[in-house]
Amino acid sequence: MATIAFIGLGNMGGPMAINLVKAGHQVKAFDLSLEALATVKAEGAEVAASAADAATGADFVISMLPAGKHVLGLYLGEQGIAAQIKPDALVMDCSTIDADSARKLGAGLAEQGIAFIDAPVSGGVGGAKAGTLTFIVGGSEADYQRAVPVLQGMGKNIFHAGAIGAGQVAKICNNMLLSILMVGTSESLQMGIDNGLDPKVLSEIMLKSSGRNWTLELYNPCPGVQENVPASNQYQGGFMVDLMAKDLGLALEAATQSQSSTPMGALARNLYVAHQRAGHGKLDFSSIFKLFEKKA
Ligand code: NAD
Repeated sequence: MATIAFIGLGNMGGPMAINLVKAGHQVKAFDLSLEALATVKAEGAEVAASAADAATGADFVISMLPAGKHVLGLYLGEQGIAAQIKPDALVMDCSTIDADSARKLGAGLAEQGIAFIDAPVSGGVGGAKAGTLTFIVGGSEADYQRAVPVLQGMGKNIFHAGAIGAGQVAKICNNMLLSILMVGTSESLQMGIDNGLDPKVLSEIMLKSSGRNWTLELYNPCPGVQENVPASNQYQGGFMVDLMAKDLGLALEAATQSQSSTPMGALARNLYVAHQRAGHGKLDFSSIFKLFEKKA
């Protein structure tokens, strides 16, 4: 079993660190929030006095932070912890950040002889708690193989997407497609309703027809069509509009850099940002359905 430093114990990182403790690893955790530290301490993690303290002597250093600037600051900033990390340790950043920052971090750590993979996740808070996350890894084959036994303590599916940064690229490609499917499913269901159809019947028909897709199958955005989805619970829980808007921003940054044409992704980002600005940022992303509803 390994000694693991875990930095960033929020909605995702907290349950992920706890699952590593349950898997038998020695976890030394750090977060700026005392409340987050108390939660993981109660589940058996050791609490560190600082990020540098957590990283000292660890075989693996895992971070789960909000954005690229936090991740780069943590490792390479003025008080960056890279100097505290053992040269034979493996750093795994599981945050969703821009691929460029991941590559910059990989290069900065390599200068100090430290190995790095980006390993963003899919599966949300539910997946983090249940230990069923999907990890999408960017890095060398050897570092991927080294990471797998640790990642298996927090997830079910572990993919190797390519070189450093590829994990982030694959993650935003997936989320861009997901947002497009969610918007398309929402407008189609509403058009059916406007023309007198029952959304349950229409959903059943489309599920057996060529419009079938993941959102229709498992995450119907129309309230009352499926049980146990955010749409049937006032759009609470699930994957927040704020996070989808963030990921779509990252997707469009990547598209600009690679000069890719992503008209549907651009439209989906604009719709999600407008929805966020209308005050729906904390709702699940299937609440985009509200945009198409006919108000009385
Ligand atoms: P969160 O805001 O709940 O947690 C972030 C944590 O990082 C906080 O506890 C904060 O105190 C801590 N933090 C910030 N800067 C720090 C620093 N310098 N040192 C130590 N701790 C620091 O966010 P989250 O929902 O856990 O998301 C984390 C990452 O996972 C994000 O990049 C997000 O995009 C990604 N993600 C989230 C979800 C989701 O459903 N929430 C799903 C997939 C991916």
